[in-house]
Amino acid sequence: MSTRVSRRRALQAAATLPALAGCTATAPPAPVRDFLKELGVRPVINASGAYTMFTASLMRPEAVAAIQAMSTRFVRLDELHDAIGQRIASLLGAPAAMVPSGAAAGLLCGTAGVLTGKDPEKILRLPDLTGMKTEVVVQKSHRFPYDHLVRATGVKLVEVETREEVEKAIGPKTAMLLFLNKSDPLGQVRMEEFVQIGRKHGLPTFNDAAADVPPIENLLKPIRMGFDLVCVSGGKGIRGPQSAGILVGRPDLIAAARLNTSPHSDTIGRSCKVNKEEMVAMLVALESFLREDHHALYRKWEQWVETIQTPVAKVRGVKTALYVPEIANAVPHLRVSWDTSIQLTPAEAQQKLRDGEPSIELVPRPQFEGLEIASWMLQEGEAEIVGRRVAEVLGV
Ligand SMILES: *Cc1c(COP(=O)(O)O)cnc(C)c1O
Repeated sequence: MSTRVSRRRALQAAATLPALAGCTATAPPAPVRDFLKELGVRPVINASGAYTMFTASLMRPEAVAAIQAMSTRFVRLDELHDAIGQRIASLLGAPAAMVPSGAAAGLLCGTAGVLTGKDPEKILRLPDLTGMKTEVVVQKSHRFPYDHLVRATGVKLVEVETREEVEKAIGPKTAMLLFLNKSDPLGQVRMEEFVQIGRKHGLPTFNDAAADVPPIENLLKPIRMGFDLVCVSGGKGIRGPQSAGILVGRPDLIAAARLNTSPHSDTIGRSCKVNKEEMVAMLVALESFLREDHHALYRKWEQWVETIQTPVAKVRGVKTALYVPEIANAVPHLRVSWDTSIQLTPAEAQQKLRDGEPSIELVPRPQFEGLEIASWMLQEGEAEIVGRRVAEVLGV
């Protein structure tokens, strides 16, 4: 096909497009596209909570508006990042802050910053640790899937259990001490003592509190206690962009973390890019989150759990209980278990809810033998649907 012909065809095709044909003063606004329908992708009722695989939380309308507003402006990205970091730091009472592309990216860029400082040669060299420290000490009970992002810098994790073992593990190779906020009750060395050990040895302490807000106190506590770095997800309880987060801490470490990521091209964290829209939306979401009446929301989530519980508890052979995790996802959940009179495994029940209409997702891997349902990501009217569907699935 010649260029001329293809251009003419393109113009003919364009003339028939509804968007162009409708460009007159009297035309009604174009209908909002139903992308999921167009793509043949089923929407989901999210009774699981803030799980990335079910797209976690819904962005606040103010955050979406911020994305829209920022999408028409050019800016020097570093300058914007400086300003946003300062605002976030002052909102959280932290010495400094940055917006990484999620808590996981915070772990990678923060650890990289600890290893390299502002040394340009070390930044280029990662994950080759020549000339750098090579070990991070962590309590065994604080290992977690996302510590992969710490290991991605090339460091080795050294597992310990007691305070004595922490002290013994610390040596010339030690770069940092790593802590998982939600595992605090499981470890022998508790938060405050952990920070003290870091101070005593002049080593940075890093606390991952990704899924631990609300309540906001879960984030403020490690900051006040003096962890040198603390990260949290932007797209879980704060309801900012899914691909944003917050890393707060010591100004020199935050500066070094930023040098290890976008817009700096030759860096280990270059793929953790955050665009200007997400950066501003992250700040806006945090502002709203801090203003929100958490107690009122909590009561609503409790009521939704009761709404689900009422029909489910009536099914013969079924037991239900309210459950609130201690630190991460510390919001009302409903636990549902049943006796052998119901010939269905929890996995089969979950599959039936997934396959039904509408499709419902519960907590993917409950910590007990049964179903676990979170109400905090539900929308108005959905608790009734979830309660009815769970009762139907278990009632047969
Ligand atoms: C969710 C989670 C992460 C990853 O957070 P993102 O914001 O999705 O990158 C890291 N650590 C923990 C403990 C988490 O729960």
